[in-house]
Amino acid sequence: MHSSVINLQDIQKEIHLKNKKKTFKTEIIAVSKTFSLEQIKPLIDYGHNHFGENKVQEAVDKWKLIKKTNSNINLHLIGKLQTNKVKYAVPLFDYIHSVDNEKLAEKISIEEKKHRRKIKIFIQVNIGDESQKNGIDPKLLRNFYKKCVDDMNLNVVGLMCIPPLNTDSKTYFNHMTVLAKDIGLTELSMGMSSDYLDAIEYGASFVRIGTKIFGNRS
Ligand SMILES: *Cc1c(COP(=O)(O)O)cnc(C)c1O
Repeated sequence: MHSSVINLQDIQKEIHLKNKKKTFKTEIIAVSKTFSLEQIKPLIDYGHNHFGENKVQEAVDKWKLIKKTNSNINLHLIGKLQTNKVKYAVPLFDYIHSVDNEKLAEKISIEEKKHRRKIKIFIQVNIGDESQKNGIDPKLLRNFYKKCVDDMNLNVVGLMCIPPLNTDSKTYFNHMTVLAKDIGLTELSMGMSSDYLDAIEYGASFVRIGTKIFGNRS
């Protein structure tokens, strides 16, 4: 069996053990950025159906055809989305995890109407209050969420975060659960190769795992 499939199975087992008593479901998004379709193919053949990319153009090149013949594949945009790329992102992606400003939300709403398509949206939260990081300030979250839903008719399903590097992610994950509960959202996109088990402890419904499945990116 291909190493990526073995790695995925190992992670699935770990998650199962961690989540034994609980009832929530955690989906593993295999983050396939920088890897070729050939390298991704074993996972598709194995039946895995959640994949993540961080660049729109790369995702279009890689996934446009294969998504047509594999309608059960869910493609997640996990990277920053520029407004001029929204028209390419909306027809391709099933989930967008990086919505963090009104201009972007508005553009997505317009393209959704054009394409008669509803994307599942995560609002990205700048949970570590880092000046260089994407995501909305937690203090502005409630207002922004209301605008996305009421004014732009977006299907917001949850919150996403990337905690600061080299810190203990747990306090950030905990804060995320509080924020989500506060506005009545149930889905949480959090946890990467280094901290997904912690994320699951705090109820992550989507973990985004690249390196631990595919190996190091060059
Ligand atoms: C690349 C990336 C991941 C996966 O990171 P790994 O450490 O390789 O698991 C997760 N989330 C986002 C937003 C990413 O850009």
